[in-house]
Amino acid sequence: MTAAPPRNWAGNVTFRAARVHRPSSVAELQEIVAAARSVRALGTGHSFNRIADTDGDLVRVDGLPGRVEIDPAALTATVPAGLRYARLAEHLQAHGFALANLASLPQISVAGACATGTHGSGNGRPGLAAAVAGLRMVAPDGRLVELRRGVPEDRLDGAVVALGALGIVTELTLDIEPTYDVAQWVYTGLPLDRLAGAFDALSGAAYSVSVFTDWASGEARVWLKCRTDRDGSDHPGDSWQGARLAGEALHPIPGIFPAACTTQGGRPGPWHERLPHFRPDFTPSSGTELQSELLLPRSAAPQAVEALRRIGHRIAPVLQISEVRTVAADDLWLSPAHARDCVALHFTWSDRAEAVMRAVAAVEEELLPLGGRPHWGKLTALAPGDVAALHPRAADFRRLMADHDPEGKLRNDFVRGVFPT
Ligand SMILES: Cc1cc2nc3c(=O)[nH]c(=O)nc-3n(C[C@H](O)[C@H](O)[C@H](O)COP(=O)(O)OP(=O)(O)OC[C@H]3O[C@@H](n4cnc5c(N)ncnc54)[C@H](O)[C@@H]3O)c2cc1C
Repeated sequence: MTAAPPRNWAGNVTFRAARVHRPSSVAELQEIVAAARSVRALGTGHSFNRIADTDGDLVRVDGLPGRVEIDPAALTATVPAGLRYARLAEHLQAHGFALANLASLPQISVAGACATGTHGSGNGRPGLAAAVAGLRMVAPDGRLVELRRGVPEDRLDGAVVALGALGIVTELTLDIEPTYDVAQWVYTGLPLDRLAGAFDALSGAAYSVSVFTDWASGEARVWLKCRTDRDGSDHPGDSWQGARLAGEALHPIPGIFPAACTTQGGRPGPWHERLPHFRPDFTPSSGTELQSELLLPRSAAPQAVEALRRIGHRIAPVLQISEVRTVAADDLWLSPAHARDCVALHFTWSDRAEAVMRAVAAVEEELLPLGGRPHWGKLTALAPGDVAALHPRAADFRRLMADHDPEGKLRNDFVRGVFPT
């Protein structure tokens, strides 16, 4: 057992766990889970809500033994669940391999990111969980269970974005590919009229594209991450889509010095040193913040841009920055991008929780009618019971939970709120 649980990364959630464990073997983890009345896993604590919380036993899996095992023929890597993407990426790169995409920060654990449907950007890039080809977990009764892609009775598609509600994951097998380089260009002064009017051209202009705006100024900045073997490494011109090539490195949040940011200015470098916006050894984003995000059908992007421009002045007092990304459809049951290509509208707010929740509600009033589904790891003003209704496979997931965990040992208040019995 370890010391009292800390808070989450943002500091807005203090974990209520009666006991915190950091087992050093899978056998020890199996004993903890079998003996527990109520148990949850904690990754690196980067979620902004109580998704990881429990008043029972909280388990960190980053003390489990394990190493990255690459299968070059199958193009997969089996990785410990608690490993952070930063360490995984270094290992893969050292062996000539890569992942298809990364989130904005590499500090998060693989299991925690996949459990919440974490994503990066790119018209052709699904969320990180889509790379999961198999996983191993400790079931509520302490048994070790293995689920594999392509084995229908395993129902892996239901078990990857699983909110920690099926078992404590110990290992994941991920799709990998040969390493590649990325060159990152930043543009300033993109007119928001252009973002609405030419959305597909903009979001499809590179392997991964991120647009940052405050919605009130009428302008945006664009991060183009060009995969050199597909897009080339050159920028599309000093002036492009009404925007100008930045003459210096920039932080996504205006006014913050860009030391924490990955290399810009078009200098090609390995995938893991360009796809995230932030370097692993610095505080990502602003560090004093709350976040919310909704994923909508990509075809709704122009309407969503116009709607957010209309309320830009109302949310401005608590908004640090907003990011627009795209996420390709996947088959994962609880993925916000399930069965539909998405535009993801993210908000980095101040840490004034009450005012932020009013702003989150204002945004959701505009974006839910356009088909928005909230990110599982961020804030929403929706009642938990209303979130399940946005997911077409929610009933299937409820049955999967009942099969894996009939007594509800892995269900915390968050999961019970979304899937009341
Ligand atoms: C600065 C910042 C930037 C972010 N950028 C992005 C981004 O670019 N894209 C994006 O989509 N999201 C982003 N997020 C959100 C973040 O990716 C998610 O909250 C993610 O879940 C964090 O992973 P974690 O390891 O911290 O998980 P935690 O928050 O610790 O846990 C999340 C869930 O995973 C479960 N879990 C963790 N480990 C296991 C396990 N071994 N077995 C079973 N269940 C487990 C937990 O029980 C919980 O339900 C960002 C967050 C921050 C703070």
